[in-house]
Amino acid sequence: MEEQDFGMSLPLSQDSFIELWQTVAAPPIATLSSLPSCNESPDSWKTGEHMEMLLINDQVLADGFDENLFELPPEAPVKDFVTLPSSTVPVTTDYPGEYGFQLRFQKSGTAKSVTSTYSELLNKLYCQLAKTSPVEVLVSKEPPAGAVLRATAVYKKSEHVAEVVRRCPHHQNEDVAEQRSHLIRMEGSQRAQYYEDPHTKRHSVTVPYEPPQLGSEITTILLSFMCNSSCMGGMNRRPILTILTLETPEGLVFGRRCFEVRVCACPGRDRKTEEGNSTKTQDDKGNKKRKSAPPPDSTSARKLKTASSTEDEDKDVFVLQVRGRKRYEMLKKINDGLELLDKDSKTRTKVCVKQEVPPPSSGKRLMQQGERSDSD
Ligand SMILES: [Zn+2]
Repeated sequence: MEEQDFGMSLPLSQDSFIELWQTVAAPPIATLSSLPSCNESPDSWKTGEHMEMLLINDQVLADGFDENLFELPPEAPVKDFVTLPSSTVPVTTDYPGEYGFQLRFQKSGTAKSVTSTYSELLNKLYCQLAKTSPVEVLVSKEPPAGAVLRATAVYKKSEHVAEVVRRCPHHQNEDVAEQRSHLIRMEGSQRAQYYEDPHTKRHSVTVPYEPPQLGSEITTILLSFMCNSSCMGGMNRRPILTILTLETPEGLVFGRRCFEVRVCACPGRDRKTEEGNSTKTQDDKGNKKRKSAPPPDSTSARKLKTASSTEDEDKDVFVLQVRGRKRYEMLKKINDGLELLDKDSKTRTKVCVKQEVPPPSSGKRLMQQGERSDSD
């Protein structure tokens, strides 16, 4: 494997330096012992520790080696790619590759309290803002030492795919972390590295691939998503995919897995609803074409559903922004009442009830069709 062969790859560029730096910062014994010998004495690795590695760095990277790299803050510096240039439009097809790269998600169900849950049916992760989502990584055979796992977010729809997924201005401004503009974080590892591609400006984060611990077949990584899907000026309700790749330190991809992500206030509820809708849509196939409106939400006053004379119109959902808690509570009560009426009438005779949406007496009012709110 070329990426293992330091003697070959180091003199070419600084590419492999990241890997060495990571190894120096926290040398895992397994990695050290499995490193192939350098061009000099093969025994030097057996006795060699940190000093040896630094010496090698000095030797082979003497020209063009940037000493300032050592002054980077120890935690998660945001850096430019020094690896292979990435493609303008990231590939989102699954590719297990020769190492049988796979992902698995814990079964968390759809309880109200759940902060992260995955739908097999929709290949979609539902999670709360900044809450940790464990993702289990499986390989059929051990990738070469130095392999990394990279997470990249991309907009799902082709009309948005060119735009870089980044956090909304509000959440960025609230944060002091160096990687504050990054939507995806990898938690629990001091060796997480945040990247911005110099050409595409896309963000990504990597952690070194760690082989499963004794008696386990999986490696778990911890992802956090730092904005809601609904964040204005950020994702702005546009669905995203997360791409996880297993790569060499130079960015050569061994395997790839993708899944959709929705960051919202009620992951369990939203998963249940969307899975329900998906099965309904399947049932309706062959019947009359339906408008695919998102499901109504009875718990939020921001979604005021207006009943009307046809079933199709009945599905329209409107978003209403309300200023002031008191007014919100009042409108919520009205909406809850209307929802109740709605349910009631449906279970009886399907007689439709005409309802008026009470307008707020002042303040911003925003009506959007077919949208949902996550921020309550
Ligand atoms: Zn945000």
